[in-house]
Amino acid sequence: MTHTNISPLVAAQAPRPARLPLERAQRWLAEGEPDAAPHTQVFMTQTAFQAIHRHANTDLDNEVGGWLAGRHCQDPDTGQLYLVVEALLPAQQVRSGSTFLTFTHDSQVAMLAALEERYANKHIVGWYHTHPRMSVFLSGYDLWLHRHFFPHGWQVALVVEPHSHTAGFFIRDKQGNLNAQQGYGFYELFNRKSHPVVDWKNLHQPPASDTGQTKAAQEAEE
Ligand SMILES: [Zn+2]
Repeated sequence: MTHTNISPLVAAQAPRPARLPLERAQRWLAEGEPDAAPHTQVFMTQTAFQAIHRHANTDLDNEVGGWLAGRHCQDPDTGQLYLVVEALLPAQQVRSGSTFLTFTHDSQVAMLAALEERYANKHIVGWYHTHPRMSVFLSGYDLWLHRHFFPHGWQVALVVEPHSHTAGFFIRDKQGNLNAQQGYGFYELFNRKSHPVVDWKNLHQPPASDTGQTKAAQEAEE
């Protein structure tokens, strides 16, 4: 495979000031996730979660993937950086095999056109792909791809294993380093439904005493 004309998909940009939407979110922690919150917190709408779930299950033998579109924000009170994953741009013309996925030039042109047409006010906040019958991690090739196409500190990679229903976000630390073996959970952002829909098995809700347990989630349980 050739990799001509490699360039980041979006230019560096300052985050938009916006309050962390904690009051309508449910936090999910991954197994082994460090206590310290990641440098960039990830929020994902229930609509985006369901779209990823559907795409991940369209091929249980080969990797599928695409881009994550949404917003890159900073809380004006706390300074916390965060993303909101709001939509997907599934890659249509990928050369996929059981253990690799690449974004071809044609697939990138198509996705950029779709972004402009359908999500003109959104940015590419990262990418996602599946690892059928593998664990949730970033391979050497995944790291290469992430570094070249998603080089900004706030851009993330999501890996989903569709057989075991496990997944994790890979998030750079303050210095820009990435642990390829440790996936993070995220905040599920409620839309109309006030109850969680996330069912990735390696994720769990924080203990009820944790401040991550939100009012909306508590109400949903009552
Ligand atoms: Zn991979």
